[in-house]
Amino acid sequence: MFIAFNFKRAELFNTILDLGLRCIVLIINVLVFIVFVAFLSFTNPEISPLNKISYIYKEDICSDEVFLYGLILKEKDGKGREAVEKAIHLINEGLNGNYAFLDEKGRVSLSLAKKKAKKRLTGRQKVFYDVICEAINSKKSTVISISEGSEFVIIGSYDDQEIDISDVNNYGTDKRVNKFSVFAHEIKEQYSKQTKGKNWNSAHRAGLVVEEKITGYSRLDGLGANTHTEQDERGRVSGNLNTVFEKSNHRIEVCAEILNGNIVDITLTNQN
Ligand SMILES: [Zn+2]
Repeated sequence: MFIAFNFKRAELFNTILDLGLRCIVLIINVLVFIVFVAFLSFTNPEISPLNKISYIYKEDICSDEVFLYGLILKEKDGKGREAVEKAIHLINEGLNGNYAFLDEKGRVSLSLAKKKAKKRLTGRQKVFYDVICEAINSKKSTVISISEGSEFVIIGSYDDQEIDISDVNNYGTDKRVNKFSVFAHEIKEQYSKQTKGKNWNSAHRAGLVVEEKITGYSRLDGLGANTHTEQDERGRVSGNLNTVFEKSNHRIEVCAEILNGNIVDITLTNQN
């Protein structure tokens, strides 16, 4: 009886010791794995399993891992590559980083998802990102000609599927109305036309919605007083085109000074 009791105690002790050792080995293994994954995330985010998991969960396919190439920015009449590169520069400026790329066929890709840079975007930048991403991720292509100083396109043309990048850039970076809100408007408008078959009115409305999401200001149509607006015999517009924007009852007038079909200056004036 006495011997048997001692034997059971020894067996119990050995079992506890054995279980304890197994637990310690398991904890060490888990710790080693965590340190390994953390090390990988820190040194090489491109291949980190953590990033792969978040990448899948976000269902974010706007990355250079998946080339859908829905957005194509091409040179007007096959010339003026600099104009297209200025459009890519504008996208990168709007996202505050070097994320947009253009291949030799004018296909645009964004690589924010893998770099986790998306988390650093402000609300305004996120809206801008979503507009570009939506066009890239579409199975139907949105093809836009980028011109620079076109005499017949003021900002963008629904019919010609064209954006005049110098007109857009003249809007600058004022928070109330800027080149990013204007550019996003044109991309959304063309995306709505080319992939959804929307007419000008509804494609333009979709453009206005993203513009407002970026700046917080909504455009009040028909309130701006256009002055000295005229067209020459070639059809080039000159004069002042004024538009009124409103945010929480605060109104601003945006005056675009146009000379021979090109925006040469933008002035913002408080109305109240
Ligand atoms: Zn429009």
